[in-house]
Amino acid sequence: MMSDTITLALSKGRIFDETLPLLQAAGIEVTEDPEKSRKLILSTNQPGVKVVLVRATDVPTYVQYGGADMGVAGKDVLLEHGGEGLYQPLDLNIARCRMSVATQAGFDYAGKAQQGARIRVATKYPAIAREHFAHKGVHVDIIKLYGSMELAPLTGLADAIVDLVSTGNTLRANHLVEVEKVMDISSRLVVNQAALKLKTEKVRHLIDTFAKASSQEENE
Ligand code: AMP
Repeated sequence: MMSDTITLALSKGRIFDETLPLLQAAGIEVTEDPEKSRKLILSTNQPGVKVVLVRATDVPTYVQYGGADMGVAGKDVLLEHGGEGLYQPLDLNIARCRMSVATQAGFDYAGKAQQGARIRVATKYPAIAREHFAHKGVHVDIIKLYGSMELAPLTGLADAIVDLVSTGNTLRANHLVEVEKVMDISSRLVVNQAALKLKTEKVRHLIDTFAKASSQEENE
């Protein structure tokens, strides 16, 4: 990427939509609609700022290796990635939800998830799940899945799942109940460490503007 350009990695959907007002606060308007085009590099009204669209789980990798100078990634994605090589200056308080444990309605979670006991947990988030149960002293067999975790307790693949919950509709539709909150989740700004050194002024300006815009939203 050209050294005088700032590249921001975003994922389509909630993160893209909720980052737009923060960009607007910095006078940046994305001039293309990602839902209407197949383009992966989007221009803005500022020649020095570009947006690249990547998978949510790829945002930390793009920023870590300098494929993008900055990015917006969920705390879930950052914890699973490990965060190496990333400067994480700001919680943007967007795309908020929670990471929770869910089971079938009849499952005695409190009884089964005791210290020293063993349960099977299916999840897309093995690092977060492992840490959560290690902290509780519960032994877990983690089964890594890439999608449709709700199916795991219904088919007997696992006793419980660890997944993101927002409205709870997905769990309800599959007759699952949220039995424990693991943590609150929101999205953070991540910055490539070399970009912070080489493009300090532009990067700092964006961090400061995003900080003001995201805390203003919280106060409304
Ligand atoms: P809900 O039915 O509203 O509870 O949403 C749950 C589903 O939406 C989960 O399976 C998640 O995969 C997804 N989801 C909800 N919130 C987020 C978020 N902030 N970031 C990524 N995925 C989310």
